Amino acid sequence: MQAVETISEMRGVVANARAKGKSIAFVPTMGALHEGHLTLIDEAKRVGEVVIMSIFVNPLQFGPSEDFDRYPRTLDHDAKLADERGVDFLFTPTKEDMYPAQAPVVMVHPGAIGKEWEGAVRPHHFEGVLTIVAKLFNIVMPDVAVFGQKDLQQVAVIKAMVRDLNFPVGIHVVPIVREPDGLAMSSRNRYLSPKDRELGLILSRALFAMRDAFIKGERRASALEAIGWRMLERVVGLTPRYLAVVNADTFQRVNTVRHGDAAIGAVRVGETRLIDNIIF
Ligand code: AMP
Repeated sequence: MQAVETISEMRGVVANARAKGKSIAFVPTMGALHEGHLTLIDEAKRVGEVVIMSIFVNPLQFGPSEDFDRYPRTLDHDAKLADERGVDFLFTPTKEDMYPAQAPVVMVHPGAIGKEWEGAVRPHHFEGVLTIVAKLFNIVMPDVAVFGQKDLQQVAVIKAMVRDLNFPVGIHVVPIVREPDGLAMSSRNRYLSPKDRELGLILSRALFAMRDAFIKGERRASALEAIGWRMLERVVGLTPRYLAVVNADTFQRVNTVRHGDAAIGAVRVGETRLIDNIIF
């Protein structure tokens, strides 16, 4: 694996790969890699000849009271994991290289898909996400980019950006990788004390209970949501932020649930926010 630290060096690598007619698969991350991220690498290797992973903790997608400063940064360990899993180029640009004039003047706005849920809890979050993804796509020029279902609303806004702004990039989505007990893997899980981890687990249990009821034939979104809410509300020390059934493309609420719709949820335990979802 080759380390690439500047945008100009990355452009050279990309030009070289393209000149050789190689397809490029791209995995953007913020590092603190775990098995979820590594599964994205597997998919990238399956669909592309050259695999590029980026690690960049993007200040633009964190709110002023969020965890940008204390977001886990474990670059040496990440590089080892990425190398072992088969990444060809690890791109780790600096903040100064990505945002030379502080915040960019032009940003990509997510529109209605990014308004509710994570977009409501974290104002400007998706603008920050789409702006960095657009920049990275223009630098890495991938044929395919791989994202995780873990951040399902992010997937929806990125797919919409690619469609509406004609990015020539295929978007591949990898199912959520979970711990054996069901907790969705996340870089933020390392913040959790053992007790908070137990509480956080209730979110995935609530989503699984909603899925079980769907499998048994319940199609009313309100009934499924009530099942999940009842489980979250009886837990002391866990603050539910939202739990809803939505269309996985538009992120609008549905009344009657169909295959392909999603149950999405977010909770806070201690200082840590957890999100999770299941697709019916
Ligand atoms: P992050 O580093 O948190 O920005 O995540 C980088 C990519 O990894 C995103 O596309 C995430 O959706 C994906 N990802 C994070 N956690 C998981 C997981 N548990 N399973 C699958 N993909 C994940």
